[in-house]
Amino acid sequence: MRFDIVTIFPGFFDSVFAHGIVRRAIKEGLVTVEAHDLREYAHDRHRTVDDRPFGGGEGMVLKPEPLAEALEGLGVRAHLRGEIRDQRSEIEDTKTRVILLSAQGQLFTQSIARELAGLERVVLVCGRYEGVDERVNELYCDMELSIGDYVLSGGELAAAVVVDAAMRLIPGVLGNEASAEYESFGAPDSEIAAEIDTDVGGVPRSQHGAGGLLDYPQYTRPAEFGGLRTPEVLMNGDHAEIRRWRREQQLRKTLKNRPELLERATLNAEDMLTIERIRGEIRL
Ligand code: SAH
Repeated sequence: MRFDIVTIFPGFFDSVFAHGIVRRAIKEGLVTVEAHDLREYAHDRHRTVDDRPFGGGEGMVLKPEPLAEALEGLGVRAHLRGEIRDQRSEIEDTKTRVILLSAQGQLFTQSIARELAGLERVVLVCGRYEGVDERVNELYCDMELSIGDYVLSGGELAAAVVVDAAMRLIPGVLGNEASAEYESFGAPDSEIAAEIDTDVGGVPRSQHGAGGLLDYPQYTRPAEFGGLRTPEVLMNGDHAEIRRWRREQQLRKTLKNRPELLERATLNAEDMLTIERIRGEIRL
């Protein structure tokens, strides 16, 4: 899989992808990431990539010509004028996706990361200043992605987030293939729900049973730290009990920090009872 990033700060990514899983995936040739300097596609003496916004207002806007030339150089073709853009069908038709990082984009989620990980190539366009001339979005981009409801000073951090989250879902990138399915925001689909109660060799999976919930808390040695003991259940080797405890912790964390996730999560009858019990405790 290949990621191409168009940016005015290609050096930004040098350290971002030089660590851990991402670095290993690149070294092993599972993934290629290349940052392309937008200024190389600006041809005036000052290599100008920005200009003042039509209609007035603060700041500067990334001009369309250098971006268009950079994207064309990467083999991205402009959508035909007047073409009706059906994002879903494009996603299915092609193994490449062009993404504009934008605070106005749809929210980037684990399920989008999973979708991207199935493609052959993702091209990411990083905005700066007040953003990117909208015609670049219209002509060249398949989707606009936001990494959260806040405004960054540039698309580079957002692109790094998208690349990292998608890359670790590519087969072979994570050491343990199963682990991505069983962590926070794991696929809430029936296939995985059916597997939720399956052990690996009798040991509860390290990232057990996500089903659209947040992950459970983890502990390691020492058994006691800062006056707090590791929950006894994790020390006694009773896998069924550990699994029940972890599931309850997932429900507790999700209820506390992200209650809206419960609406889309895959829950069984026991989960519903646990939730009622936790809600009862909260009301007390
Ligand atoms: N005026 C714009 C913000 C521009 S910030 C607005 O209010 O929507 C400059 C660039 O940072 C954007 O073009 C985009 O590429 C990037 N950016 C800012 N916030 C982002 C976010 N939440 N997600 C993804 N990209 C973001």
